[in-house]
Amino acid sequence: MDSSLVRKIEKAKDYSVQPGRVTLKQFTASFQGDNDSHEISYEGGEAKCSCHYFAGHKTCSHVMAIEMMLEGMVSAQPVTST
Ligand SMILES: [Zn+2]
Repeated sequence: MDSSLVRKIEKAKDYSVQPGRVTLKQFTASFQGDNDSHEISYEGGEAKCSCHYFAGHKTCSHVMAIEMMLEGMVSAQPVTST
C-alpha cells in the first residue's frame, strides 16, 4: 500500500470520531419500531415520520431517536408549541 493511501486512512480514522464535521442535508430511513416499521424523511433541518403519533404531535420517539443517533450531524429543530 503506498504511503499516501496510508495517510488517508489515518486521516479518515481521525475524521470518523468527529461527527460534528458532517451535516446531513437530506435522507430517508426505515425505522423498525417495536410494533411496526416507519418511514423517516429528513430535509432542510426537518424530520418527518410516517407514524400515527407524529401526525398529531410533529415529533415522535423515532424522530427523537434518529436525532440522538446522529447528534451533531443533523440540526435538530427545537420543539415549539404555537
Ligand atoms: Zn414516528
